[in-house]
Amino acid sequence: MILGCLALNASFEPLTMVPMRRALRLVIDGKAEIVEAEQDRVVRSERLTMPRPAVIRLTKFIHVPRRFRRQVTNTFLFARDHYRCQYCGRPAAELRPREALTRDHVIPISRGGTNDWTNVVTACSPCNTRKGNRLPAEIGMMPLTRPVEPHFVHLSWAVRRLTQTQARYIRTFYGDAILHQLEALEHRTHPHRSTHSSALHVLEHDGSGEAAD
Ligand SMILES: [Zn+2]
Repeated sequence: MILGCLALNASFEPLTMVPMRRALRLVIDGKAEIVEAEQDRVVRSERLTMPRPAVIRLTKFIHVPRRFRRQVTNTFLFARDHYRCQYCGRPAAELRPREALTRDHVIPISRGGTNDWTNVVTACSPCNTRKGNRLPAEIGMMPLTRPVEPHFVHLSWAVRRLTQTQARYIRTFYGDAILHQLEALEHRTHPHRSTHSSALHVLEHDGSGEAAD
């Protein structure tokens, strides 16, 4: 199983999980240092050999603006909603071959809705089509769960598993309560979850997600 690398800010705040390739790039470029590595596993490139990083720390503090943290990508949206349509309740595994999970705006963009966490939910494509341009009350389709902004770290966890070493840093910074919540989330996580994720990439720009009303 391929695990990502936990990226910490210069302040040691856990930021996100990054794919191993990206973690190595940051280290090689001098933008991050290895805090914890798996000593028995190495990665080799043409010019160097280094232990496989489990936790890296950015050498320069990056200020993560609130608005970037709040950006919704489908990867994280589906993870927040446990890969389940928030109208009919079907999980991804029960969708038919031509159906897919999509992003639905509870209040459609065309009706003044926004693209914020509190206005988007995971919907299967048939439910999204059926709801169309209407408000929930107009068609009697209310989301099963009221959409809220998730904790950033929950999302990182939801899309990539943490190793025990990495979990220690989450506990150090956020405490046991958050870690227990993360573990509960992990046990609920769907096996068909997307592994496409790089939240550092998300911090830089909103890289994924076609929006559909
Ligand atoms: Zn549905």
